[in-house]
Amino acid sequence: MRKTVYLKFIMGYIIFALFGFLVVSSFVTSMVRRSLLAHESEALYKEAVQIADTFASGLYNNVITLESAKTQIDILQSYLSATIWIINPSGLIILDSSTPLDITAEDVYVEGFGELIDSTEFYEVTTLRGYWDSNHLCVYAPITNGYTVQGYVVISKPMETVDAFQNSLLNISYIMLVILFLLSLIILIFFTEAVYIPLRKITRATEEYASGNLHYEFTVDSDDEMGYLAATLNYMASELAKVEDNEKKLVANVSHDFRSPLTSIKGYSEAMLDGTIPPEMHDKYLAIVQNESERLIKLTNSLLTLNNMGTNRNMLELSDFEINSTIRSIISTFEGACREKKIRINLVLTGEEMYVHADKTKIEQVIYNLLDNAIKFSNKDSEIKIETQEKNTKLLISVKDNGIGIPKESLHKIFDRFYKTDSSRGKDKKGTGLGLSITKEIIRAHNENIDVISTEGEGSEFLFTLPISEVQTEDDV
Ligand code: ADP
Repeated sequence: MRKTVYLKFIMGYIIFALFGFLVVSSFVTSMVRRSLLAHESEALYKEAVQIADTFASGLYNNVITLESAKTQIDILQSYLSATIWIINPSGLIILDSSTPLDITAEDVYVEGFGELIDSTEFYEVTTLRGYWDSNHLCVYAPITNGYTVQGYVVISKPMETVDAFQNSLLNISYIMLVILFLLSLIILIFFTEAVYIPLRKITRATEEYASGNLHYEFTVDSDDEMGYLAATLNYMASELAKVEDNEKKLVANVSHDFRSPLTSIKGYSEAMLDGTIPPEMHDKYLAIVQNESERLIKLTNSLLTLNNMGTNRNMLELSDFEINSTIRSIISTFEGACREKKIRINLVLTGEEMYVHADKTKIEQVIYNLLDNAIKFSNKDSEIKIETQEKNTKLLISVKDNGIGIPKESLHKIFDRFYKTDSSRGKDKKGTGLGLSITKEIIRAHNENIDVISTEGEGSEFLFTLPISEVQTEDDV
């Protein structure tokens, strides 16, 4: 069986109870017994010394009679609940509070009392060498006259009375132990509420997530670490669910975008092979096949770039490079396209030279993508403005066209993978809808920002920032 934290906690409780019981029944018992004996014997000893100093020595010195001494010890017996003897060193009991005074009765001796008294402390627990059947607590006080011991006062109490008192004290300890144990159950209730129940919920949720149900939701209503853990777990699951949804969408998009060119390549090549398309028309359809193949290559390359950007976000090859010349050389690659559409490029660059700190190849791709889109979506005989502006430590680069613009409702989607506006589909059949998402990934990897301002039918402006290199900043100073 799986050991739950709860079970372990309960086991801890049982061990706690067992140890508590063991401690009370061993240590506490012996401590109570020891202090009880010391306390009792001290009280009895004081009485014994008192008796030895007063009427017992009076008896030996014939100051008081046996009868009056007997009366005194009888009173004390009922007061102390103990038997009092006056006994000779030889062991002859002269007076015994527990038996009536009878001078005609036979002498009663305690065997070996002389040796016993030499070897004992002022008190002991004894049967007096078998004189009594059971143990008694005995105290001895010598009756002295000058330096000679005339006799002893012995006060004894059966141990049963001491034991009974001891047991009643121990019972209190046991009751306290049980009360303490029951009170400590409050901790168990707290543990159940604050730790165990939330932990069960969290475990259940992780099991659900592990089995793939990332939409499983649960709540832990507490503002402690457990509540925080549950909220974090919920958040993690929702983020994972989003990633999963995005991946599904991506696969669907990729499949869709691969299928249409592949279908036309397959259709046209089959039609050419089986003669449906006559040989004189082959050139036309081979050009379409080539076009579609190029589109597939572009799509594959874009996907690979995007994938690399996702996994190697921190793998930028940063360097200080001159951005103005970079922009100029990219523009020159579009000369043909611009001439075709009669597009003029208006360059407004800051400074003769402007150094930025970034990954050159990737930034080239960003500018290329933005300019490519600007030309694609520009109207014939129009102008594209590329401008750079210094803003503190950043360089703001803008690519502005006077083209078809982007509808308001599409503005927040154009950076999504595979997104294309409806109006662009007609203008750009080759477009993959991946260019801007790659652009955004690159800018994000540089911890910079990219934004768009656009009005449908009027044009679009894409703006992004780059850090100005420190070399440039020093030169300025
Ligand atoms: P593609 O590679 O198909 O151009 P992009 O991710 O670069 O994909 O762009 C996504 C979509 O954003 C385009 O299909 C187009 O609808 C819109 N778009 C991007 N740039 C512009 C622009 N300069 N003018 C108008 N629409 C644009």
